[in-house]
Amino acid sequence: MRIVGHRLPANLVSSTSLQRLLPARTRHLCRLGIERVGFDQKMAPEIRDREVLEKMKTAIRKDGPSKLQVIADFDATLTKYWINGCRGQSSHGLLQQGDPKYDNKRQELYDYYHPLEFSPTIPIEEKTKLMEEWWGKTHSLLVEGGLTIDAIKKSVENAFIAFRDGVVELFEFLEEKDVPILIFSAGLADIIEEVMRQKLHKSFKNVKIVSNRMVFDDNGHLQAFKGKTIHVLNKNEHALDMAAPLHDHIGCDGPNGDYSSSVKKRTNVLLLGDHIGDLGMSDGLSYENRITVGFLNDNVEKSIGSYREAFDIVYLNDASMWGVVDLVSELCSHVD
Ligand SMILES: [Mg+2]
Repeated sequence: MRIVGHRLPANLVSSTSLQRLLPARTRHLCRLGIERVGFDQKMAPEIRDREVLEKMKTAIRKDGPSKLQVIADFDATLTKYWINGCRGQSSHGLLQQGDPKYDNKRQELYDYYHPLEFSPTIPIEEKTKLMEEWWGKTHSLLVEGGLTIDAIKKSVENAFIAFRDGVVELFEFLEEKDVPILIFSAGLADIIEEVMRQKLHKSFKNVKIVSNRMVFDDNGHLQAFKGKTIHVLNKNEHALDMAAPLHDHIGCDGPNGDYSSSVKKRTNVLLLGDHIGDLGMSDGLSYENRITVGFLNDNVEKSIGSYREAFDIVYLNDASMWGVVDLVSELCSHVD
């Protein structure tokens, strides 16, 4: 049997018994073929300016993978917005402390601060203070309520959270090309790592998480949080500067173990986000070329105009990651 590219003939696609008889590599291609049938039938992405995009693609291809880095938001960017018709949970939202009293207290904070986060009338300085307050109180409740590593594991096991189709293949491809992926989140690093362990069943040496990190005692009880809080309004490269030294146990690329400075040398950026505010994740970088991909998951009609203006490429309706897989394979291909 001959397999052309990633696609299989339609009559083979549903034949799972046939797949089981195939060698592992071919099975992998089959899986890609099956998932890509769904992708191919989905709506094409919105492109802001084709000419500009093609120019950036060519420039990035010419520089090669050694100059490229990927910066991605986590919730609703790498993960699905909808799962079987229900709203997927976020890395913060899935956490159950094991003590309902504290879960309720955190919910009360959410109910109070979440509308303020989106209020159009609160000036940004004031809003930043409110967000610091919210994150600070939430983190205190997690410490006070005696969060444990076991509770995190259990919360993730019971969570309604899933990666977009194609995320594993995206990570695998970028790992093969030695392209770093920086996952930037105002959530909780320890939970994101647990979600990756449980849902992806493997770790990637090129993936770094910059997010709020917990400190546990020898008995697995939360003691404190490391460093300055990363919240929804300071999620930019300044946060990377202050967070990177705290995260060096994940591994670093820099000659002096300074991950932050090593990624700054990679001057071509592919940025993935689901909020216009995610564009700020590359603010502290002096990049030469940046391609931005936005996932517009909901309220498409209302938001498409602003997303199309903000991002180079916009995927609609909680799309898969296959389009980005195609994009990175193009960006990492040789130019003659
Ligand atoms: Mg998000």
